[in-house]
Amino acid sequence: MRLTVLGCAGSFPGPESPCSAYLIEAEDFRLLVDFGPGSLSTLQRYAGLHAPDAILLTHLHCDHILDAASYVVVRRYAPDGPYPPLPVYAPAGAPERLATAYGQEDSSVEDVYQFYALQPGTFPIGPFTVTVDRVLHPVETYGVRLEHGGRVLCYSGDTAPCEALLRLAQNADAFLCEASYLDGVDNPPDLHLTGREAGEAAAKAGVGRLLLTHLVAAWGSEAHTVASASAAYAGPLEVVRPGASYDI
Ligand SMILES: [Zn+2]
Repeated sequence: MRLTVLGCAGSFPGPESPCSAYLIEAEDFRLLVDFGPGSLSTLQRYAGLHAPDAILLTHLHCDHILDAASYVVVRRYAPDGPYPPLPVYAPAGAPERLATAYGQEDSSVEDVYQFYALQPGTFPIGPFTVTVDRVLHPVETYGVRLEHGGRVLCYSGDTAPCEALLRLAQNADAFLCEASYLDGVDNPPDLHLTGREAGEAAAKAGVGRLLLTHLVAAWGSEAHTVASASAAYAGPLEVVRPGASYDI
């Protein structure tokens, strides 16, 4: 499978990147995981306006979903449309949240999206075997394990350290893991990971490589985050960038 990063800025768009959005592709099927602000732009640049065959939203914080509201226009009002409903796997409140974000009261986006409410478990999406589980974040949030052809990609979603994250990442070939916080400062609990915590999770889970994401450019230090993660995890690691692609 192939991972293409469309956006990786943590919490709000950065000067160099939209917010979280990752396109994962196998057998000509493209799953878009998270659809944060700005990533509809890079979707067109790196994949195509109609590239996604399905969408998975890990949680309903605005930095992970808002361009799914913008995308309603793309599907509903396309000159060659409207397009058929696109499958969206998301926490249960997603239909109402996206309708509200779209901005028309008492309107629905269910002509554009076919929603499936996430709950912990394993299920297929296209050619992928997908396992999701609740991770540690203030709202209902899922970490994701994607398997295809004997290869495994784990995506942390947004989370603080937790056992579910370690289970999802167990022996993954690639671990796309958030590292929002800087080590050594007084961070709020049960919200996000530091670079060191991302590295510790990668080491405990025995992953093949660590791809750090969701850094907050304005508040953080990439060099500091990388150094902290490297101190805890001896395998290959890097900070992802928009447009970067990885064969997994
Ligand atoms: Zn979040």
